[in-house]
Amino acid sequence: MLGLMQDRALLISTIIEHAARHHGDAEVVSRTVEGPIHRYTYAEAGRRAKRVANMLGALGVGFGDRAATLAWNGYRHFELYYGISGIGAVMHTINPRLFPDQIAWIANHAEDKALFFDLTFLPLVEGIAARLPACRSFVLMTDRAHMPAASTIPGLLCYEDLLAAAAEEFAWPAFDENTASSLCYTSGTTGNPKGALYSHRSTMLHAYASALPDSLNCSARDVILPVVPMFHVNSWGLAYACPMVGAKLVLPGPHLDGRSVYELFEAERVTMSAGVPTVWQGLLAHMKQGGLRFSTLKSTVIGGSACPPAMIRTFQDEYGVKVLHAWGMTEMSPLGTVCNLKSKHLDQSAEEQFRVETTQGRAVFGVDMKIVGADGTDLPWDGKTFGDLYVRGPWVVRGYFKGEGGDPLVDGWFPTGDVATISADGYMQITDRSKDVIKSGGEWISSIDLENIAVAHPAVMQAAVIGVAHPKWDERPLLIVVRKPGAELTREELLRFFEGKIAKWWMPDDVAFVEAIPLGATGKMLKTRLREQFRDHRLPTA
Ligand code: AMP
Repeated sequence: MLGLMQDRALLISTIIEHAARHHGDAEVVSRTVEGPIHRYTYAEAGRRAKRVANMLGALGVGFGDRAATLAWNGYRHFELYYGISGIGAVMHTINPRLFPDQIAWIANHAEDKALFFDLTFLPLVEGIAARLPACRSFVLMTDRAHMPAASTIPGLLCYEDLLAAAAEEFAWPAFDENTASSLCYTSGTTGNPKGALYSHRSTMLHAYASALPDSLNCSARDVILPVVPMFHVNSWGLAYACPMVGAKLVLPGPHLDGRSVYELFEAERVTMSAGVPTVWQGLLAHMKQGGLRFSTLKSTVIGGSACPPAMIRTFQDEYGVKVLHAWGMTEMSPLGTVCNLKSKHLDQSAEEQFRVETTQGRAVFGVDMKIVGADGTDLPWDGKTFGDLYVRGPWVVRGYFKGEGGDPLVDGWFPTGDVATISADGYMQITDRSKDVIKSGGEWISSIDLENIAVAHPAVMQAAVIGVAHPKWDERPLLIVVRKPGAELTREELLRFFEGKIAKWWMPDDVAFVEAIPLGATGKMLKTRLREQFRDHRLPTA
């Protein structure tokens, strides 16, 4: 027997329709590439998304076609999200921090029919446009006044001109909720980049789940500023969750340094934000230097890489900002776990609570997870045994775009490539990417644990730990450190800081001080690069 409920498809267009109708006066505030702050409401965004839909029709972009963006977090990018997916085309966000050759490869693989880009990326697009045969329209996301006098891109189009010429009347089409809505390539794995192809259904379910109180806790009383880019897994889904709940949305544009982000936090009365640890490092340094306080910020989501416990302490103890340590990946839309206490923890000591808060948290409903050993058997949830982390759920990939990389699933589960422990209460803690684990004498050493201790030292700004070849033990840990500006610190002082905090055999064999640690396109430390750089490093014990 079937239920007697209405069969309304879960479509992304319903989010913007809802926001425009029920939160019509809630603001979307953007720091633009051109300079000034731009503000409008969800009602206006809804109207312009319809113009986008008509504009796409005029450009010949239709159902199932891919349309790409190279853009910062801003209102035009936001409208494109809804206009493109709303007509049943696929919104393909490209990470502009990739090398031009990679961008061209990705755009060709996706067969993008149109490319929308911010002024910042005009030189980049001029460099690759001739290599994108499938792309018929190149649209600069600006107004007539900011169009270049000349460009090497033939027929370069102006976004605002196109929008002005497009009608505001449009009825969003209804179609199967399993239709592809957006595409995001991950370069986190080996080989060619692979496209995670989200659907309307997966995106909607993910948005519902991410707004829950024990997830990212988003509401109509919040002012949310995603520092995480809209080209990095849809700003971790906030581009959908914010209008879904009617939160005011603040989009920071190209300036993601501590000062610019802090200014926006204060000027727009931001209550919640989200970003990778390296972004918060910059912000916290700026706060400390200027003796600044947050007047409205209540919480921030930190993920993308492990958030060092020292950073959680600084946010919570010094600034009264709750850290929502979250874990996920492009293949998971991205949300997998978020760290929030259960009521049973509230009676525990602050130290015991903090111990829980340093983990990556509990599975959000919709995501199921398990850890398995090398032979594929389930491992116990005791908070100590670590194994390969597998996940499944309606917003987890079942394959990559165009079948790239073959079938990734193992008995219906997606192997994340992360190594983790899970506690009896279901709190998951990442110890490493499986390829970053240090294998010493047949045992594993967690590079993240060692990095977390190193960055708790007051003179350390950044730390990475990699395995270096060792004749007796296979691999031993090498600690690579960037000192804080002006700080003095010797190898011996730093190693003494580890004493009593780890098992003796985990002690790094050596410390290398460097000026900077290379970061990848999504702000993660590039350990592959470090491993190359230190391949011939001679450990003192070797
Ligand atoms: P991406 O697909 O670029 O978002 O990268 C996903 C990967 O980032 C995951 O598989 C993890 O290795 C890593 N990651 C994301 N969040 C965290 C976190 N909170 N702690 C540790 N690693 C994380």
